[in-house]
Amino acid sequence: MRVGRRPTVTLSCTFVHPGTPSVRKSDLRAVGYPSQVSDRRPSNAAKEPVLSVSLPTGGTVRPITRWGEPVMHRKLTPVTTYDEDLERLVADMFATMYAAEGAGLAANQIGVDLQVFVFDCTDGANKRVVGVVCNPVLTLPDTGDRNLDDSEEGCLSLPGAYTYCARPDWSQVDGTDHTGAPVTYVGEGGTLARCLQHETDHLMGTVFGDRVPSRARKKLYKQAEAIAEDYPTEWPAVARVSSAHDL
Ligand SMILES: [Zn+2]
Repeated sequence: MRVGRRPTVTLSCTFVHPGTPSVRKSDLRAVGYPSQVSDRRPSNAAKEPVLSVSLPTGGTVRPITRWGEPVMHRKLTPVTTYDEDLERLVADMFATMYAAEGAGLAANQIGVDLQVFVFDCTDGANKRVVGVVCNPVLTLPDTGDRNLDDSEEGCLSLPGAYTYCARPDWSQVDGTDHTGAPVTYVGEGGTLARCLQHETDHLMGTVFGDRVPSRARKKLYKQAEAIAEDYPTEWPAVARVSSAHDL
């Protein structure tokens, strides 16, 4: 998932978004990643991430699969084997997510048909949370209890395009980490609440474009098309091209 460029608009006033820093490669240092990917950390991010387990390191940056590829639009296979291959996959997913400056990444976004996602983002209290979830089960508040957060959302698999997408500002995911240990993450506001929903959606074959009105979806695709030349097919294994869009 990518954090939107504009400030959050809340549809209901119980939660005010504190502002979400974009996740930078520098965050890797805090979780034991090599320092060559790092030079800065977000000024307003929490200093120490909340880690339930040590995360696999030393992954390879892989090209990101785009919307339209079949693996992006079907339910993925549950994880049943927790082995070195899974650990390597998770390491590659972190490396790829950080290289692309994303807040979350699902396995199908690097072409792998397995129910795994990784994330590194902040909640509504600006607390940074980093984790891996396999076979997530998402819980949202009952319809009557939901406060919708209508923020801009982006996806690494449709790079450069953003649109407002209203989602509940609270979510919970239960699953396992890459070792098979049970994990629970609760997103109370911030990017985390949105990210847990966005990434679980990916594993079920849903992209956030499926969740916005058709007019917004058309604009989203137009935006992506307009900036497509900036993102080579192999991005982020191959760097993004700087262009007038950066101005
Ligand atoms: Zn996405």
